[in-house]
Amino acid sequence: MKKILSIIFLFIMMLFNTVSAEEMYKIKGINIDTTSSVIFINTIGTYQTSITNGIKLVKIPDEHKVYFDIASSVLISKKQDLFFNSGAIKEIKISQFTTNPNIVRVVMYFDDNYNIDTLKIGNINNNLVIMTQELSDKFAQFYQNTYRDNEKLAEDYYNPLIIQTETNNTQPAVLNSNNKYSNKELVQIQQAFGESNASNYKELVRSELSDNIHLRSKYYINSVSSQNKGFLISGYGYPTIQKPFVLTNPTRMVFDLVNSNINQSYNNKEIPLNPNNLAGDKIKIGRFDSNITRIVVTSENAKQYLPIFSPDNQSLLIANPANLASNSFSANRANIIRYKYQKNLSTDDFTLTFDNPVVWGIKRNTDNLYVYFFNAAQYNDTIFKNTINNTPYGDLELALLKNIGIRLTLPLNSSNEINTYFSGDGKNFRIRATNLKSKVKKETPVVVATNPKGKTIVIDPGHGGSDYGAIREGINEKDINLDVAKQVQSILERKGFKVKMTRTNDMYVSLEDRCKITNSSNPFLFVSIHVNSCVGTEPKGIETHYYHDNSIELANTIHSKMTKEIKTPNRGLFKSKFYVINHTSVPAVLLEIGFISNDKERAELVTKRRQQATAEAIAEGIIEYFNNHK
Ligand code: ZN
Repeated sequence: MKKILSIIFLFIMMLFNTVSAEEMYKIKGINIDTTSSVIFINTIGTYQTSITNGIKLVKIPDEHKVYFDIASSVLISKKQDLFFNSGAIKEIKISQFTTNPNIVRVVMYFDDNYNIDTLKIGNINNNLVIMTQELSDKFAQFYQNTYRDNEKLAEDYYNPLIIQTETNNTQPAVLNSNNKYSNKELVQIQQAFGESNASNYKELVRSELSDNIHLRSKYYINSVSSQNKGFLISGYGYPTIQKPFVLTNPTRMVFDLVNSNINQSYNNKEIPLNPNNLAGDKIKIGRFDSNITRIVVTSENAKQYLPIFSPDNQSLLIANPANLASNSFSANRANIIRYKYQKNLSTDDFTLTFDNPVVWGIKRNTDNLYVYFFNAAQYNDTIFKNTINNTPYGDLELALLKNIGIRLTLPLNSSNEINTYFSGDGKNFRIRATNLKSKVKKETPVVVATNPKGKTIVIDPGHGGSDYGAIREGINEKDINLDVAKQVQSILERKGFKVKMTRTNDMYVSLEDRCKITNSSNPFLFVSIHVNSCVGTEPKGIETHYYHDNSIELANTIHSKMTKEIKTPNRGLFKSKFYVINHTSVPAVLLEIGFISNDKERAELVTKRRQQATAEAIAEGIIEYFNNHK
């Protein structure tokens, strides 16, 4: 509500202000949040009048285009033309339109589904703010990262972005042979931040290893107040809370808002919960470093405080739920209407869908994740239990708590890492976890090995780290290779084999090092796992490669297991001089377990079913070969 009022206020300001002849706005560049729904046109300097004064939006609905001119303004960076692959805004251009008079023009292109009539423009601290509102259904599904366990990483604050090159090509910028983007592209990105200093450059170099260039996200805290028996923080963009921690003497709870900024008039101000009791609970909020705004709650009950998100995720109430009146959030009841479990390459998702926007709070401690849905009233326990059964979320619990709502509890251990996401419509809550242990009892492979002790098998997941292997539609060969290889490892280890992995995580290992690891462990055999690709989208199926003649039988054994277990074309055995199978003396094969360039096969290759079937076939082939040669 506060936000709506302030937007109305901004529009009123626009009507009454006039530009004085002396004012010249210095425009620094564009900044955008990861929802692509809040854009900042940053200025430097201070101004008597509002930059929004006199701005008229020109809308061209047929082209999904909106442009406007900023009078009395100079673009101090070079002109920018940025493309986005998520959110409502597809492209934004800013340039010096004329120099006499000085006019800067901003042109934006929107997604076909976005209604450009709902576009809003405002002014925050001399920055021009463009907000896309009433997002269409498609964007209402867009998930925002609301909570994260892990420490900040520069690259995590960036969102995939496509930069236009001179050839008018909108493909992602291509890495050169040194895995670096060209200088020109880096400069373009830096200009997107209106910065060109060295520290910023370093952050960009860190993120350049991914296949898309990333752009900074943003939450702008516009006001902080004591309200509704908690501390209300409201702003623009969306907040992401990092794992909270406790300080003692006095007891304080610390919540860091990553990649955020704060209105100067609230920076480092202390606000008491009750203005008549300055010794009671209080909050202090301020800039901690260039990326983090830190919220510190001082209270004897500091540990009870938790962040409660508004359904639009733009406001946070930091509160002790015990202080809140039982009917605080009762205006609109929200029932859980759907549950969904989804397995990803290295994470597991669980999503709850509500019939109405939900007010929710999050609490994370060493052993548990608790999520409170304060205005939630009903859920179907049978459907819930059926959904989590046989998934890594088997220990998840829901409970209806009197005067609170629904509480979700997820038991955790130290290897789990949690992220939560919320959809733009306020109705979908998602947990993303790593290393949750599956409750499924896995079936053991048919073939049983005898006395495998002492024999080492080397499993080589192809590529890794900065070497992505083949990439299609955001799916990386290196990730599939690793997932399948790890499953082969665990099957073999359960059978008593010693398994040496050339890598166990997403790291770069050179081909030479892979061979060194292999030859130094004096193994029984070597299996390298890869996913195939080609320019065409038609080819699919399985290939097995060997080079030395002592590897033909191993190749045959694994290949026939794979082609028997997996329904995809058998493309046959190949004698190929691949480095890793040429430089190993023991029987060595390189498996191409499918084509990432074929849409259907790529979709299959990321499923648990296909990966498990592949891993089992490979393990069975290895065990059968072993039994024939022990
Ligand atoms: Zn490969």
